[in-house]
This record gives sequence, structure tokens and C-alpha cells, in this order.
Amino acid sequence: MKSLDEYLLDAEQAHGHLCAGQVLGVRMAMLGLQKLGIDDPRGKDRKRLVTFVEIDRCATDAVAVVTGCRLGKRALKFRDWGKVAATFVDVSAGRAVRIVARESSKALARSLQPEIADKNRQQRLAYREMPDQELFDVQGVKVELPPEEFPGYKGERVVCQACGEGINFRREVRRDGKILCRGCAGERYYKVL
Ligand SMILES: [Zn+2]
Ligand SMILES: [Zn+2]
Repeated sequence: MKSLDEYLLDAEQAHGHLCAGQVLGVRMAMLGLQKLGIDDPRGKDRKRLVTFVEIDRCATDAVAVVTGCRLGKRALKFRDWGKVAATFVDVSAGRAVRIVARESSKALARSLQPEIADKNRQQRLAYREMPDQELFDVQGVKVELPPEEFPGYKGERVVCQACGEGINFRREVRRDGKILCRGCAGERYYKVL
């Protein structure tokens, strides 16, 4: 594993700026890896890790930088829960840990750096220094990961019987003997013009 400072440099580059979320995300991921005993997530341990993130904000980019888990590798899973939290799954050992930023961490940052008016700077500095147990809550958890969720899963590709589009990774819906994509099954997030 790299040092906090090295990861922050990487995160700043990947994300475009250094913000409080980067500090939080880097530290969250470093703690998760440490709890799982994974020390080379981008090298020899790269097939051991799947990460679930619960928010699509700054910290998520930093989690991806440290863990090497990316959406395009199917190793980063997004659950849109609006929480600054992530679950790190060691798929080889069947162990997982969920880490959530404590609600009290913002107020604590303010009390540690009261002379700094800029909130982001205040939090950035405080989040670097605060001990893990003041910044995060850690839960040991169990994650049931079906085969089609693994990064290397190769399944049969099916075709939606309504729209004709192809579907991978068992994401189809089977209803009344028909194979449907999620859009045709009623989960469409867009309207065709
Ligand atoms: Zn940011
Ligand atoms: Zn369809």
C-alpha cells in the first residue's frame, strides 16, 4: 500500500481537485483494505477485491483510486443510497467490512479547525488528522455475491424479445415465459422521443 500522501496525490489527479471527499475516500479505502489484510490491491491482490459504494460523490472517486476497483472491471458496485459508505469484499476469503463516515465527523472538523472559515479546507485538514475511530464506523458484514456479480463472470448473452437488444450478466427479466430487458419490463429511466 502507498502512504496517505501518495494516495491523495493520485486521487487529486484522477478526480480533478483535492477536496474533503478525497481525503475521506482515501482514508476509508485504506482502512477497509487494512481490515481485510489486503496490501497490494492494484497488484497481486487485484482479483481479491470487490467494492460496493453507496454514493456518487467525491469520495467514491478516491475509493476507486485506492482499491483499483472500477465500474468497467465490474469490481465496483454502485448502490444509490446517498450515504458516504463503502463495503470492501475479499472474495477469496469470503470476508467483508462496511465502513461509513460518522455523522459527527463534520462537527468535529469544525471544532478542530475553528479558525479556518473555508469549510472544505477545514474538513480537508481535519480529516487528515482525525483518528479512524472518530471518522468512521466499521462493521463486519457478510456479502452474498452470486456468480454473475464476479468480475470474471462469463454468462450466456440473451436477447430481449420485445426490443431485440442484447443483455449480458443475467440482467434480463423472465416474465410469463418471455425474456425481457429491464427497460421493456418497466424499469425504463428514459422516454423515447
Ligand atoms: Zn471533490
Ligand atoms: Zn427490451
